[in-house]
Amino acid sequence: IKWTAGRGWHDAELVPYAPLSLDPANMTLHYGQAIFEGLKAYRQPDGSVATFRPEENARRFQDSARRLAMPELPVETFLAACDALVRQDEAWVPESGEASLYLRPFMIATEVGLGVRPSSEYLFVVIASPAGAYFPGGVKPVSVWLSEEYVRAAPGGTGAAKCAGNYAGSLVAQAQAMEHGCDQVVWLDAVERRWIEEMGGMNLYFVYKDHSVNGNRIVTPELTGTLLPGITRASLLRIAADLGYEVSEGRISVEDWKNAAADGSLTEVFACGTAAVITPVGAVKSARGGWTVADGEPGEVTMKLRRALLEIQTGAAEDVHGWMHRLGR
Ligand code: PMP
Repeated sequence: IKWTAGRGWHDAELVPYAPLSLDPANMTLHYGQAIFEGLKAYRQPDGSVATFRPEENARRFQDSARRLAMPELPVETFLAACDALVRQDEAWVPESGEASLYLRPFMIATEVGLGVRPSSEYLFVVIASPAGAYFPGGVKPVSVWLSEEYVRAAPGGTGAAKCAGNYAGSLVAQAQAMEHGCDQVVWLDAVERRWIEEMGGMNLYFVYKDHSVNGNRIVTPELTGTLLPGITRASLLRIAADLGYEVSEGRISVEDWKNAAADGSLTEVFACGTAAVITPVGAVKSARGGWTVADGEPGEVTMKLRRALLEIQTGAAEDVHGWMHRLGR
């Protein structure tokens, strides 16, 4: 689907997968007006296919567009494009389980020119790819690298938008994480380099043993404007409450994480996002040392929430919140 200033959205088409032809002076290549989304279509027990909360992706896509001075795609157009592609590629939706068809909607500028200003033309595209279960051999905790040298997002920046530049800026820290034997980066706030924000492609949750409420207290970093408002994160706030946990948004510092892990009051940490759904976080490393939460094995609360969310997505549990967008067969 194209967008042109003065004309709006036009020329939607469903075409076979093929390279895009871009002018070397295409504005995206130079100034980075590029935003994207990620969502999954799951096979349902009755053989139909459903996507998980696509309206939320459509709304976040609009928020990202506004932040990058790009035009907003109507929610219905976003949904219709995703639905059309899923219908076309239905044979690629796995027959059951955690495997899915991953959808990647994105938008780029297409005006040709070297002046720094918003483009007057854009292209919105959705591509799809089958995605296997994230943990085919059983859920394993990931190890994380606390990035103290680099930051992902500063106040007033693009941290809450899902734009390509955020990921470009994070690659050097990801490489550092891997050099230190870690799977993923954990980002801290840019101002104090103290508050936990999120992971490279996932939001974080902390599970505390809180005897005063005779159960588990669950906390996720609050949305400060510098982290991505994950749809899995938002869904888990609801599911955790449904399951009777005391769950809240708050601030968690590196010292809190380290101290609570040491005194045993922090029993589990997990990350969540569309790709992995939920993954336990085991070992933590930073330039100043490291620690491990509990025994580093997937925790009970983590696995319970993971199961509850996946059961809704795969149709094994009732969709009490009306989150599944069914396409029919
Ligand atoms: N944070 C970042 C930086 C991400 O890229 C993602 C993946 N979209 C998330 C968090 C998790 O968001 P969601 O649950 O919507 O996939």
